[in-house]
Amino acid sequence: MLYFDHAATTPMRESAKHAWLQASSALNPSGQYALGRRARSLLDDARETVAKVFSCDPIEVIFTASGTESDNIALKGLHAISPHSKVVISAIEHSAVYETAQFLGDVELLPVTREGFVHDPHGILAQPAAVVSCMWANNETGAIQPVGQIIAATSAPVHVDAVQAVGKVPINFHALGAASLAMSGHKFGGPRGVGVLLAKRSPAPAPLFHGGGQERGIRSGTVDVAGACGFAAALTEAVATMDQEQQRLAALKDMIIAGLPEDSILNTPKDSLATHVNVSFPGAEGDSLIMLLDSQGFALATGSACANGVNRASRVLLAQGVDEKTARGTLRISLGYTTTEDEVAQLIEALPKAVAIARQAGMA
Ligand code: PLP
Repeated sequence: MLYFDHAATTPMRESAKHAWLQASSALNPSGQYALGRRARSLLDDARETVAKVFSCDPIEVIFTASGTESDNIALKGLHAISPHSKVVISAIEHSAVYETAQFLGDVELLPVTREGFVHDPHGILAQPAAVVSCMWANNETGAIQPVGQIIAATSAPVHVDAVQAVGKVPINFHALGAASLAMSGHKFGGPRGVGVLLAKRSPAPAPLFHGGGQERGIRSGTVDVAGACGFAAALTEAVATMDQEQQRLAALKDMIIAGLPEDSILNTPKDSLATHVNVSFPGAEGDSLIMLLDSQGFALATGSACANGVNRASRVLLAQGVDEKTARGTLRISLGYTTTEDEVAQLIEALPKAVAIARQAGMA
């Protein structure tokens, strides 16, 4: 399989599988007996590894079951403790933040520039809010967002969804000054179903569900020790190889961009993750492209969710001013640690033909 959907999930690293397996017999880390203490010690090590990578305190590391859960705890939990009701998010947040904000109501959206960067031309950030949320890097275009500027422009607690950025760019939680930051193991080679929320001591989000008081009471429930160990191992490898790997992938990304058919429209700006190429082929339907390429062994996505099999224009691309028809003819090509130059060369060769056939088939 020629896999170009690493932004959706990336294969589990051998180091993570090994760490997961080693810890898979661990029992309840809350047990006071020797076996419980052994599990606790594995969990503590994993927590310390995560804290060291993100320059924060181990107590600020909350293990969760996904990036989605981390985002939900942050937004709902910070909203619950605030005297204000307004939730400010960028227009290009992942659904884990976008839908959570809609659920909370009283949402104000920060617009994006044509290039896909969040900005605040109307001074929304100067007004009181319960919580502000802005992603570090966009999951569809890879555009790296000015999170530091956003944090500096508001007095509200800021949540950062760093799910796409972790393992690809350096992140220092204390220096950033965010109230919380979400990540997800399966995006950098850890197990699926393990997330982390970094949460400052104050303001600490209120819990979503109540129970045994694990993870500072912010996330009750017996912690998945093996999952945490797999997460920490994958993170360690991703960070140790980050500089070299991002350089290698940036060269492959340049190769893809240079090999695109001439009339394609690049939606990924220069200041973006080395792993993402978002490109539109006007007149071709994104779904047709995916099916045509799938039949040749390529796995890639449009980058936007489809409901009931109907291809919808991406909310992210529409927010950055791409017209509806162009947005529907979009592919997200996303690279990862297993991507090779040979795979990229094969994709570049296959793309123009697939685009030509999809254009002949026309748009629905
Ligand atoms: N936030 C962003 C930016 C993402 O890309 C994703 C996954 O695609 C999520 C949140 C949700 O993460 P998870 O799949 O772990 O729930």
